[in-house]
Amino acid sequence: MSYAQHVMDDLKQKYASEPVFLQAVQEVLMTLQPALDKDPKYQQHKILERIVEPERIIGFRVEWVDDKGEIQVNRGFRVQYNSALGPYKGGLRFHPSVNLGILKFLGFEQIFKNSLTGLAIGGAKGGSDFDPKGKSDIEVMRFCQAFMNELYRHVGATIDVPAGDIGVGGREVGYLFGQYKKLTKSYEGVLTGKNVLFGGSLARTEATGYGNVYFAQHMMQGRGDSLEGKTCVVSGAGNVATYCCEKLYHIGAKPVTVSDSRGMIYDADGIKVDVLKQVKEVERASLTRYAELVPGAKYTPVSEYPAGRNVVWNVPCDAAFPCATQNELNLEDAKALLANGCKCVSEGANMPSTLEAVHAFLESGICYGPSKAANAGGVATSQLEMAQNASMQKWDFATVDNKLQGIMGNIYANAFETAKDFGQPNNLVLGANIAGFRKVADAMIAQGVC
Ligand code: GLU
Repeated sequence: MSYAQHVMDDLKQKYASEPVFLQAVQEVLMTLQPALDKDPKYQQHKILERIVEPERIIGFRVEWVDDKGEIQVNRGFRVQYNSALGPYKGGLRFHPSVNLGILKFLGFEQIFKNSLTGLAIGGAKGGSDFDPKGKSDIEVMRFCQAFMNELYRHVGATIDVPAGDIGVGGREVGYLFGQYKKLTKSYEGVLTGKNVLFGGSLARTEATGYGNVYFAQHMMQGRGDSLEGKTCVVSGAGNVATYCCEKLYHIGAKPVTVSDSRGMIYDADGIKVDVLKQVKEVERASLTRYAELVPGAKYTPVSEYPAGRNVVWNVPCDAAFPCATQNELNLEDAKALLANGCKCVSEGANMPSTLEAVHAFLESGICYGPSKAANAGGVATSQLEMAQNASMQKWDFATVDNKLQGIMGNIYANAFETAKDFGQPNNLVLGANIAGFRKVADAMIAQGVC
């Protein structure tokens, strides 16, 4: 039995109740074997056994009072996964589905993603089962303050720097930052994704979506093609999806779909990004509102979806950008995309494709950009925010965007060259995993058993 398989089997026994975590580990471990065979030092130093275990898991109670005066209790977590390359770095997710297994999957992914950026950041993730949907601003503020009342002990500008993820945007980061400042009396870059008024970086809001399109462009250009003039489907309607749509227009492509937890929009003329921003960023409304504002757009509610499938994947397209959440694209969806002639899939969400869907994309030979490479622009720009905070500087939008473009180009080149070295040039899953892994593993070996 191979080393990777042995570690995987052991993990399946230990963490049977954490299926998404096991899925994320399996996706990585099953591609690492050629690198492990090539260099026995990784097995000698038990790197796989060590890298799959978080350095530290912090769990805590979050209690707060809602607008009716009722006491509410949520669970809070921070998974400090790996600090070989730098301070722990990764977002916070506030969503009712959050549990330790989900945060371990996200934290594990973050180690390799952050390594791929080429920047000095370790991997972490955190969050809560708190649902910001339907809560008043004051309730969100009270919750964020209660969450930080515990988290502040474990974070710091050179220790652990959280940011946003699903359910955590500029508003939440602002409240978290305010409470950290109050508790510690220090004004430091402890969070990223901050408002530009108090240390946020220009282009951080746009970075994950823009970076995803830059990555897809590199993949297409690698095949002598381009995204220009192409019809694109996008899932999700949050920050990643919105700025993915915006950048697609900049490069001459046309996004025709977006979706949220209640339904999807098909707008054959192209998604109106200004309307999407108004609906989601300003009104915090559902996509039914988009359909009200754009009469030509077709809205399909989730109740009309065939079981378990998001119908955005049925819309004929040249390129697809899953930007909603994990496991939103299954084998059937992958088959529908391929049958309709889709040539490129670039993942803005974290692990949006099931393992079966990933295999279908790899087998088909289309351009497939796995999330830890394709969506790394967000966290990379977070590190640019940390650099600006640490040096007390403020860079203009073009400076940050140029750096982001350079980073996405490097990630693509690194994943592609690594995949080529191992004889599978079009397998960017293998390329990204091995390239991300080797840096972390070599740093762990150099730092000793500690
Ligand atoms: N949550 C984002 C991610 O999945 C961003 C993390 C960050 O900026 O630290 O990469």
